[in-house]
Amino acid sequence: MSTPALKIYNTLTRKKEDFRPIDPAKVRMYVCGPTVYDYAHIGNARPLIVFDVLFRLLRHLAKQGVWDGGKGETKVTYVRNITDVDDKINARAAESGISIRELTEETNKVFQADVKALGCLEPTVQPRATEHIAQMIAIIERLIASGHAYAADGHVLFDVPSMPSYGRLSRRSLDEMIAGARVDVAPYKRGDMDFVLWKPSKDNEPGWDSPWGRGRPGWHIECSAMSWAHLGETFDIHGGGIDLVFPHHENEIAQSCCAFGQDVMANYWMHNGFLQVEGEKMSKSLGNFVTIHELLHTEKFGGRKWPGEVLRLAMLRTHYRQPIDWTVKALEEADANLQTWRRSLGNVLPDDITGAADERVVLALADDLNTHEAIQVIGSTAEASSSKVDLANNLAFLGLLPHRYTRQGYREATERISRKFNVSHLEDWAAKWNKFAASPKNIGDLSEIEDAITAEDLNVRIEARNAARASKNWAESDRIRDELAAMGIALKDNADGTTTWEVKR
Ligand code: AMP
Ligand code: ZN
Repeated sequence: MSTPALKIYNTLTRKKEDFRPIDPAKVRMYVCGPTVYDYAHIGNARPLIVFDVLFRLLRHLAKQGVWDGGKGETKVTYVRNITDVDDKINARAAESGISIRELTEETNKVFQADVKALGCLEPTVQPRATEHIAQMIAIIERLIASGHAYAADGHVLFDVPSMPSYGRLSRRSLDEMIAGARVDVAPYKRGDMDFVLWKPSKDNEPGWDSPWGRGRPGWHIECSAMSWAHLGETFDIHGGGIDLVFPHHENEIAQSCCAFGQDVMANYWMHNGFLQVEGEKMSKSLGNFVTIHELLHTEKFGGRKWPGEVLRLAMLRTHYRQPIDWTVKALEEADANLQTWRRSLGNVLPDDITGAADERVVLALADDLNTHEAIQVIGSTAEASSSKVDLANNLAFLGLLPHRYTRQGYREATERISRKFNVSHLEDWAAKWNKFAASPKNIGDLSEIEDAITAEDLNVRIEARNAARASKNWAESDRIRDELAAMGIALKDNADGTTTWEVKR
């Protein structure tokens, strides 16, 4: 297959450009990750999903040898950090009466489960800010030594006017920024625009020893330190949501470029548009947010739970730079599409799915991540009845195939069902279902079995039957018993009043 050149829109130049890595042997990408004090909302899911698609595409193109003359050995490193030191974290831990460590660990656990459910691959590295304090201090020392930062009153500040090109990414001039800046009363600041690199910590706040006393880092310095530690002084792609352009990314650039004496921190800056609710950015501060966790695990929205693939498809339908309006209707549409596509997959075997996408899908994505177009292509492969494996591969490439449809996922699902229904071989279980005379080999059969009855559902039915028996409603209790028997499940009422069940053999 002919391999397309990758074009990406670069916020730095405001142009779509051909992507060329600094070093053809490695492609390096950094994306600003979550501050782990609260559940991530579905707006935060947007950069996670967008840059996951880019990561998948970069790996694919690397394997094709696009940048190393056909060898296919280019290594793709994707770094997404975890901000685990922040004043919001301190405040939340104090409010909830738990330690900072407990709060960040617990929040990170939920975050990891959320992104996995959204079909995102694990980044190559997920560095934590608290594990990079030494690098932050080293960068700050360099900035002071080169006259770009100053210590005052236990704080260290970046001296913005010391960097003539400050404002290049966001295209703001220093004069404009100073005119627009709020009057900041902090007495230790030389200039209104100067920002904090390090600040002192009180005894009850997390802090580290430093040349400026016990303190903690400002937010921006974290990303300069973690990208340096894992990607070097300059790297290829830096990403995040559009709200990060100013001041966060502008300040990252100021710190890294001045500390390392480089003109650029990253060559390509990519920013996703907002996910909006009634025209406004979804955000914690506006209170108009819906968490990923709630969508996945509760029935608060549209009266049902939403699988991760549905959330992902709803997101990818829109080009990443456009705003998205968040509605339950969009989820319903995405769900209907996925269901139609999955029905077409019926007898594809997990072993057939290699994840090698259609050339047209790759072409669409290589054009500044045109996921909208890629999904149109998927729609058309779904209509061609001859190309079920293509459809499965295209869905897999975009991360839209539920995990249980993959080879590994199929194996896990088989084990899960066996365990859940207490049968040692899935074949035994399948044999009880009239529909599946043989063992369920394809993903359609497997899904049907798993969807048909869940262990929870079984317990609910047993409880309903116990309630019917307690009120001597024998007709109802028999009806439930017969219904389960028809599914191959035998109930046994024990002398001690409990009910157990087994699969009929
Ligand atoms: P935050 O926790 O606010 O630092 O956000 C984490 C990531 O989510 C950043 O890349 C933000 O730019 C991005 N983000 C936050 N809110 C939205 C939104 N409503 N739509 C799209 N991206 C967002
Ligand atoms: Zn950052």
